Amino acid sequence: MAKKETIVDAAKKTVKKVAEKVAEKVVEAAVEATVQVQEAVKEATTPIITPEMAKIPAGPLELKWTNYKNHQKLVNPANKRRLDVIVVGTGLAGSSAAASLAEMGFNVLNFCIQDSPRRAHSIAAQGGINAAKNYQNDGDSVYRLYYDTIKGGDYRAREANVYRLAEVSNNIIDQCVAQGVPFAREYGGLLDNRSFGGAQVSRTFYAKGQTGQQLLLGAYSALSRQIGKGKVKMYTRYEMLDIVLVKDENGEQRARGIIARNLVTGRIERFFAHAVVVGSGGYGNTFFLSTNAMASNGSAAMQMYRHGALFANPCYAQIHPTCIPKHGDFQSKLTLMSESLRNDGRIWVPKKLEDAKRLQAGEIKGRDIPEEDRDYYLERRYPAFGNLVPRDVASRAAKERCDKGYGVNNTGLAVFLDFSDAIQRLGKDVVAQKYGNLFQMYEKIVDENPYENPMMIFPAIHYTMGGIWVDYELQTTVKGLFCIGEANFSDHGANRLGASALMQGLADGYFVLPYTIQNYLSDQIGVPRMSTDLPEFAEAEKAVQDKINKLMAIQGKRSVDSIHKELGLIMWDFVGMGRTAEGLKEGIKKIDAIKKEFWTNVYIPGEANSLNNELEKALRLADFIEIGRLMAVDALHREESCGGHFREEYQTPEGEALRQDDKFAYVGCWKYMGEDKEPQLIKEPLDYEFTERKTRNYKN
Ligand SMILES: Cc1cc2nc3c(=O)[nH]c(=O)nc-3n(C[C@H](O)[C@H](O)[C@H](O)COP(=O)(O)OP(=O)(O)OC[C@H]3O[C@@H](n4cnc5c(N)ncnc54)[C@H](O)[C@@H]3O)c2cc1C
Repeated sequence: MAKKETIVDAAKKTVKKVAEKVAEKVVEAAVEATVQVQEAVKEATTPIITPEMAKIPAGPLELKWTNYKNHQKLVNPANKRRLDVIVVGTGLAGSSAAASLAEMGFNVLNFCIQDSPRRAHSIAAQGGINAAKNYQNDGDSVYRLYYDTIKGGDYRAREANVYRLAEVSNNIIDQCVAQGVPFAREYGGLLDNRSFGGAQVSRTFYAKGQTGQQLLLGAYSALSRQIGKGKVKMYTRYEMLDIVLVKDENGEQRARGIIARNLVTGRIERFFAHAVVVGSGGYGNTFFLSTNAMASNGSAAMQMYRHGALFANPCYAQIHPTCIPKHGDFQSKLTLMSESLRNDGRIWVPKKLEDAKRLQAGEIKGRDIPEEDRDYYLERRYPAFGNLVPRDVASRAAKERCDKGYGVNNTGLAVFLDFSDAIQRLGKDVVAQKYGNLFQMYEKIVDENPYENPMMIFPAIHYTMGGIWVDYELQTTVKGLFCIGEANFSDHGANRLGASALMQGLADGYFVLPYTIQNYLSDQIGVPRMSTDLPEFAEAEKAVQDKINKLMAIQGKRSVDSIHKELGLIMWDFVGMGRTAEGLKEGIKKIDAIKKEFWTNVYIPGEANSLNNELEKALRLADFIEIGRLMAVDALHREESCGGHFREEYQTPEGEALRQDDKFAYVGCWKYMGEDKEPQLIKEPLDYEFTERKTRNYKN
C-alpha cells in the first residue's frame, strides 16, 4: 500500500514538473512572440526618409549633380546683397563656405571660437587630401574614388552624395593650387601623390605633413579678402550657444539667427541672418582623450538636434590606428601620427610572446628583434592592401594582437610602425624629406629616435562619421539651417577613408553649398532683415543665460576635466572599439550617473560675465554627456558590425565585421523628444541603385 502511494506521489510530482515546464515554455514563447510583435509594430511605425525627402535628384549617378545644378533656383546679384548668412566655424568647411558665399555677393557673418580663423582644428590635418586626378596614371578615376569611398564606408553612405564628392574632388585641387597652396611636386613639376588606406592607387595630394595647415591658409586668404571687402564680418572668440528659430507666415520654423557668447567679455549677443550654416567640426572629444583639438566640441550639433535637426549615425566614430600611445593619467590629448606613414612604414609585433614580455619589461628594444621573429600582421592577414588597409581594419587588428599579449610597450597597448626597410630602400634623407616633421614630433613626445628604433603606435579616437543629418542640399530638417564638413553625417558611411575629410569639408564649402543654399535663399528674397529684439531672440538668450546661471550656481567639488575624463573612460570601455549589448546597456547607466554627478557636483570658478575657460568647458561637457549617451543608444540599436562600429556579437570566425544588410542598410537618424526622454528612431533606407553591396575584402 505504502509503495503504491509512493508511486502515485512520484507520478504526481512528475506530472507537476512537466506541467510547470510546459507552462514555462508557453510563457517564454508568449514573451518572445510579444517581443516580436512589438518589434514588428516598431518597425512598421518607424518613420522613413524617402529619396524625395532627402532631395536626391533622379537620373543616372554621374548626371545627378549636373542635372541638379542645371535646374536649381538662383539668386540674382542685386538680391544676393540683401541676404545675410551666418557661418559658424572657420575650419576648412566653414572658411571655404564663408569665403565663397561672400565672393558670390551674400553678406556673411562668420564665427569661431579661436582667436584667429587660422587656428581652427583643420590646421592639424597632416597627411593629405584625396582627388581623382590620376596624375600617377595608375588607373584612378572619379568612379574609382566613388567606389573606394562607398566600400571603405562599409556600404553605409548615400550613393548620390559620394559620387558628387568624387566628382568635385578635382575642382578642389585646382582651386587650392590657384590660391597658392604649396602641394608637394615631383621633379617634373606635376603635383605629387601618395597612398592612403583603402585605395590601391596614389591619389592623395599633400604638403609635407602639414596639408591641413596649408589648405586652411589658402581658404583663410580667400576669407581675408572678403573681410577686407566688407562682405564677411568676422567674429573671433565667439561661441554660438543656441540657434534662433522664427516662424514664417505659414507657421513653419526657420533658422533666423544665433545667440553667441563673446568669450573674452562673457557678453551674450544676438545675431540675425536669413540662413544659418554650421561647420563646427566633429564630436570625438566626447572620449576626452582624442586626436582632436582641445576646443573641438559637439555643442553646435546638440543645439541643432534640440531644435529638431536629426542626429544621424551617432555611433559611427573612427578610431585611428596610428596614434602615439597614451602614456599617463594626466594626459589631456592624444597625438596622431599621420596615416601617410603607412605608405613606407611597416606595422608589426613580435611573433613570440616571450619577446613581447621582454619589450613590455623594457629589457629589449624593437630593433633587437630579428626579422624572422617579427609578425607583420597586416601584410599577413590582408596581402592585397597590406599596411594600407582602412583605419577600422588596421585598428581592430592592432587591438587583437595586443589583447593576445603581443603589445610592445609597458602598458602592452602598442604595436610597432617601422621605417628600417624604407630607410634602407630610399635612404634616411628621402624618408626625412617626406615625413621629417612627423618624426621630429614623435621624438619630442616619446623621447626616442624613430629613425633608429621603430615608432610605437596604438589606436585612438580621431574622427566622427556620424553627425547632423542633411539632405542632398546639405540642409538639415530645420528650414534654413545647413550643416557642412565633419559636423554633418553625409559622405563617409560607417568608416571614413584617410584624406577624405579635407576633401569633403572643402567640397561642401567651395563647391556644393554655394549652389544648394541658393535654392533655399531664392525664396527668401522678400524676407526683410529682422530685429533681434523679437521675442524669439529674447527667449533664446534667456534660456542660454539661465543655463549658465544654473551651472555657475552648482559650486560642487569636481572639476570639469575630472568629470570629462570619467566620461571618456566610460566611452572607451563601453562604447569604444569593441561594443556588446550588455556593455552598452551598462555604459548608458554609467553615463546617466555621470550626468547626475555633473549637474549636482561640478565646480566652476570665476565669473560668468568675463573670460572663463572652465565655464566654456562645462557648457561643452554638458553636451558631450548627451552625445555620449546618444552614441551608446545608436550603437545598441545597430545590431551589426560595420566600419568603425564593431559589435562583438556580429563578427566572422576570422574576427572581421559582419554586416546585416537585410536589417540595417539605413541611416539611423535620431529625433530629439525632450529632456530626459528617449529619442525617436527615423530611418533613411540606403537602397543601392548603382553599386553592388559586397563583403569588404582587403585580402585579395
Ligand atoms: C591630427 C589630425 C590629422 C588629420 N589629418 C587629416 C588628413 O590628413 N586628411 C584629412 O582628410 N583629414 C584629416 N583629419 C580630419 C580633418 O582634419 C577634419 O575632419 C576636418 O579638418 C574638419 O574640418 P571642419 O571644417 O569640418 O571642422 P573644424 O576644422 O573642426 O572647424 C570647426 C570650426 O567650428 C568652430 N566652432 C565649433 N563650435 C563652435 C561654436 N559653438 N561657436 C562658434 N564656432 C564654433 C571652431 O572654432 C572651428 O573654427 C585629421 C584630423 C586630425 C585630428
